[in-house]
Amino acid sequence: MAYSYTLTEEQELLLQSLREWYAQNLDEQKIKGYYEAGGVPEDVQKSYVDAGFGMIGLPEEVGGTEADKLTQLLLTEELSRLSGASLPMASNILAIHDITEFGNEDQIKMVMEYYKEHGKPPFSLAFSEPGAGSDNMNMSAVVRTGADGKMILSGQKTWVSNGGKTDYALVIAKDEDPSRSNNKMSWWLIPMDRKGVKFEGLEKIGNKIMPFGDLFLDDVEVFESDLVGERGKGFFQLMKNFEFERLVCVASMLGEAQAALEDAAKYTLQRSTFEKPIASYQLIQEKLTDMEIALWNTRNQLYECAWRMDNGLDIRLQSSLLKRYGAMSCHKVADEAVQIFGGLGFTTETRVGRIMLDMRGLRIGAGTDEIMVYIAGRMIPKKYANA
Ligand SMILES: Cc1cc2nc3c(=O)[nH]c(=O)nc-3n(C[C@H](O)[C@H](O)[C@H](O)COP(=O)(O)OP(=O)(O)OC[C@H]3O[C@@H](n4cnc5c(N)ncnc54)[C@H](O)[C@@H]3O)c2cc1C
Repeated sequence: MAYSYTLTEEQELLLQSLREWYAQNLDEQKIKGYYEAGGVPEDVQKSYVDAGFGMIGLPEEVGGTEADKLTQLLLTEELSRLSGASLPMASNILAIHDITEFGNEDQIKMVMEYYKEHGKPPFSLAFSEPGAGSDNMNMSAVVRTGADGKMILSGQKTWVSNGGKTDYALVIAKDEDPSRSNNKMSWWLIPMDRKGVKFEGLEKIGNKIMPFGDLFLDDVEVFESDLVGERGKGFFQLMKNFEFERLVCVASMLGEAQAALEDAAKYTLQRSTFEKPIASYQLIQEKLTDMEIALWNTRNQLYECAWRMDNGLDIRLQSSLLKRYGAMSCHKVADEAVQIFGGLGFTTETRVGRIMLDMRGLRIGAGTDEIMVYIAGRMIPKKYANA
């Protein structure tokens, strides 16, 4: 089987219709406003779903349009390139997948109806804790069953994206025993207005279009009907979707970094110093060259990972190498775009500064640069042990 990603006519048409949807619904002024307001209005998100883009990649039985991984990632990349923004529509599908894959019939029905009506998932993903980000096993949120049979959830989650804007939170907690050695944990879909649930926002330095915060769970009663997936299998469920999450994260970074490169490249022709366009200086040409190489490599890696997934091949190693390389490269590209713009790059008159801050956050979210080494670094010796 050889790796190839020539886009099909269908994929080209889909991207063209996305560009048309974008031109009709969004522009830089609106995007800038969403960063200032800390969110994208519901009608815009709904329009994305109504136009069919938000349904691509979801199973047919829930009303989705089946598509391969590459098609889904192409959409994410292009939406991020057009907007130069971390639009929630580019990643909403990840949360929806969690429910269509592991939820029961009632949960899937509720989530899909909400998604179609509001254009966004009804819940945030609340996995990280103050003492457990990279190290999920260290989490201490726990659901304990009392002598009366009641199940009580207690703990704290943090950095929960969109947590203050959703009706539910999808919370992962240990079963019965919070100790590190207990690897049994489960997912619970908890309404935000249930007694004992409280959310408090945190001030972010970037990626302000998607605010995050702390979720306090103070003796919250949970019910069997809140359970998502199998009891005790929460860790496995969490790990299962991490690989595709990394791909979606890099696709969105790639699109944004590409937008920064395009802006910067155009600017080098417009801006003159010492009576010459800055595009004529070798130091600037070197930056553009390295930026182009970094995005070319990231794109090739991303599409190959998609191709591997679409062909049923393992991507544990490749997805961690991609997240490591892609996140650092996209951040570097956006940072160099700021440099090329000079003082203007450090203002909100251009979008490269906001892109650079978005990229910075995504070197931490969806698994840090270092954790990718922790994952890949242990696999590489085994890969070559018998070579
Ligand atoms: C923009 C953004 C959005 C987020 N959204 C969400 C969300 O919606 N829901 C959610 O649950 N969480 C979310 N997070 C949290 C994110 O998943 C965690 O911040 C991330 O997993 C890192 O965990 P930590 O912050 O606890 O850092 P730590 O795990 O404490 O790491 C601290 C430092 O040590 C390094 N380190 C840790 N372990 C190792 C190791 N073994 N080897 C080498 N270095 C190591 C890390 O790379 C890092 O540099 C978000 C974070 C960001 C920045």
